[in-house]
Amino acid sequence: MESSEALFERAKKVMPGGVNSPVRAFRSVGLTPRFIEKADGAYIWDVEGNRYIDYVCSWGPMILGHNHPVIREAVEKAIKDGLSFGASTKREVEIAELMIDMVPHIEMVRMVNSGTEAVMSAVRLARGATGRDKILKFEGCYHGHSDCMLVKAGSSAVEEQGKPSSAGVPVGTAQDTLTAPFNDLAAVEELFRRYPGAIACVIVEPVAANMGVVGPDSGFLQGLRALCDKEGSLLIFDEVITGFRLAEGGAQSYFGVKADLVTFGKIIGGGMPVGAYAGSRALMEQVAPCGPVYQAGTLSGNPVAMAAGLAQLRYLHSHPEVYTALSEKASYLAQGLRKAAATTGAPVQINQVGSLVAPFFTPDAVHSFTSASKSDLKKYAAYFEKMLRRGIYLAPAQFEAMFVSYAHSAADLDETVQAARDVFAQL
Ligand SMILES: *Cc1c(COP(=O)(O)O)cnc(C)c1O
Repeated sequence: MESSEALFERAKKVMPGGVNSPVRAFRSVGLTPRFIEKADGAYIWDVEGNRYIDYVCSWGPMILGHNHPVIREAVEKAIKDGLSFGASTKREVEIAELMIDMVPHIEMVRMVNSGTEAVMSAVRLARGATGRDKILKFEGCYHGHSDCMLVKAGSSAVEEQGKPSSAGVPVGTAQDTLTAPFNDLAAVEELFRRYPGAIACVIVEPVAANMGVVGPDSGFLQGLRALCDKEGSLLIFDEVITGFRLAEGGAQSYFGVKADLVTFGKIIGGGMPVGAYAGSRALMEQVAPCGPVYQAGTLSGNPVAMAAGLAQLRYLHSHPEVYTALSEKASYLAQGLRKAAATTGAPVQINQVGSLVAPFFTPDAVHSFTSASKSDLKKYAAYFEKMLRRGIYLAPAQFEAMFVSYAHSAADLDETVQAARDVFAQL
């Protein structure tokens, strides 16, 4: 048997950092990544044969647990008829119809191949529809790796235009991205004051789930809605994580706030590479071939990917009890972790919204990127390693979420809390 260590050595010779996506390299926790052989239900197994209770769940898509028979069978059936045609299929119509059924305020959908692509395309549409160049995002929110999103706030109050947060992002592109602190409406108002008539859209993760988990303060999303209406900007909800997770209608129905454009990914692919963006007919008909905003994709709406996504969405649509169960499971886990922190005296905050949970190693409540950043990363790394040894597979970085799936049993959650209690006591 080839160990994870041996495979990682081989991988590092042929892939940057040994991985195809940076967080998988386990650098934030200073360990060698596990190479995964298979997954089923709430569990994954590494190549050494160790079983873990999995709270990464492929970063969200596996909301029903791994290897769900309904999805697997849909894929098995689809692959017998060919893998890709580059032409239209019935499944694309069916998934668009179903999404429009499940999600409020959307009338048309365009499928793409990743969340990054969905966001990049939605932002282009917002710019095309408004004739404005600037966009506004929030500190600590992740929207994929397109140029306009790899931007951080400028360094001083006067110089608030964005700066590239990655090499290779043009300064000119970054300048058009403004950044405000999450949950800070006054900062958004101030940026609208400084750039009147220039901001095409405000894009937000309605629940920030890429800085740990940080929910919107009461009134924040409603405030964004009102400001966008007042200023003629479009509000984009990046629901690549929250879509079909918080509720079948995503954050728009969970919080009762309408977005103009919504981006999806992760869950809608059921584990296959899929993204989508959606909005009103008037907006979506600005997209090629109807309108002047160009966007295309050789493998978009791929028949196998659509089969997986359709099977998962159909399951969710016909089993509304999944959402109640997910919230109950995650609340149970969060309560257990809080109690574990309290009994051991560990200064840990547990944030939870729906099936998203995150621990922060700080004594103070976390409601922004600044407060999330106070978490002790060394403690998170130690916690991660000790939990991994106990068979609990967590996100290998502080600023990520724990994903609770429908497959996590009470026994899995109890085992996780028991492990956390032991580990908190040692930190
Ligand atoms: C994962 C994620 C993306 C990017 O999706 P990819 O499929 O990785 O390109 C965009 N936005 C949010 C909120 C995400 O969590």
